[in-house]
Amino acid sequence: MLAANSTKRILVLHCGGTIGMGPTSEGYATLDDFGSRLRQRLRDHVGGELPGVDILELTPLIDSANMVPDDWTRIACALKARWDDYDGFLLLHGTDTMAYTASALSFLFRRMDKPVILTGSQIPLCEPRSDAMDNLVNSLVLASNYPIAEVCICFHGRLLRGNRSIKFKSTGFDAFDSPNLPWLGKTGIQIELREDLLLPPAAAEMQTCQFIDGAVGVLQLYPGISHHFFSAALADAYLKALVIQSYGVGNGPNRDPELLRMLAGAVERGISIVNITRCPQGSVLPLTYATGASLAKAGAISGADLTLEAAYTKLHVLLGQGASRDAIQQTFAEPWCGECTPHLANP
Ligand code: ASP
Repeated sequence: MLAANSTKRILVLHCGGTIGMGPTSEGYATLDDFGSRLRQRLRDHVGGELPGVDILELTPLIDSANMVPDDWTRIACALKARWDDYDGFLLLHGTDTMAYTASALSFLFRRMDKPVILTGSQIPLCEPRSDAMDNLVNSLVLASNYPIAEVCICFHGRLLRGNRSIKFKSTGFDAFDSPNLPWLGKTGIQIELREDLLLPPAAAEMQTCQFIDGAVGVLQLYPGISHHFFSAALADAYLKALVIQSYGVGNGPNRDPELLRMLAGAVERGISIVNITRCPQGSVLPLTYATGASLAKAGAISGADLTLEAAYTKLHVLLGQGASRDAIQQTFAEPWCGECTPHLANP
């Protein structure tokens, strides 16, 4: 329970998002005095002081639609600086890009010995029908009492691996899921944790990484996509990696030889092309169809069953650490911290 006599120390790091927003004439926007409101709501909830819980605002508070890779560094550094002072961390974050931040943090740390749980809400805490307190209290209980040693998202009673999560509902309270991995836990009358799925604890070590703005792009296939469109994307001078969201098990059009030539040319210039499926569930199996094999032949790397969020952030981290295209090709689909299924890495 959220015990007033808990001996655990938890840091609530508020990064922004709906949970701490209030209405303005232009729609919901972040509130400056959210920290004190939150403390009061938690005090009301437990009927007294809540020892062991500190709240820190990571200013500027942002709508997570404004997140950029440097914000992941900002959050990771804030965690690193306080790592030894707490038993667990709760990040209050906007839902729109929560799965990206969770994935990026998992790759920046890879291993850890305590929980980092991201949560937020679909309706602000200050509104009557808010889902914020449920998400917050469940996250605090999990972070304080359970042997979690990885980056997770806790939302609407689900505990999900962060780098397997996607936001799949824009308005439902059950906004997040992890279609390629069972939930790590669920909170009902009882809390059920899949300890068999949790990553083992290991000493945390934040990796050095200098994110490169604009280095990774994303392109989703659609019927009729032209090589001109590809050409414009691949001509971007900042681009070092492109995630292609292909059809089904990794298929793309192979009737346009110019498109495949363009992809092969980009690969030759050192651009990493990663092929993931645009289906929310399942994996790329690139040699199943000739159309998928053509992409592989042009040099596309299989992204196995990675989410878009995980593929995108993993590429950013690899490039930010100076990895070459060859190194990315060889290791991309090998799991660092549970983000993909090992036997799908080299089909
Ligand atoms: N736009 C908001 C954000 O991501 C949405 C939310 O938090 O639910 O910051």
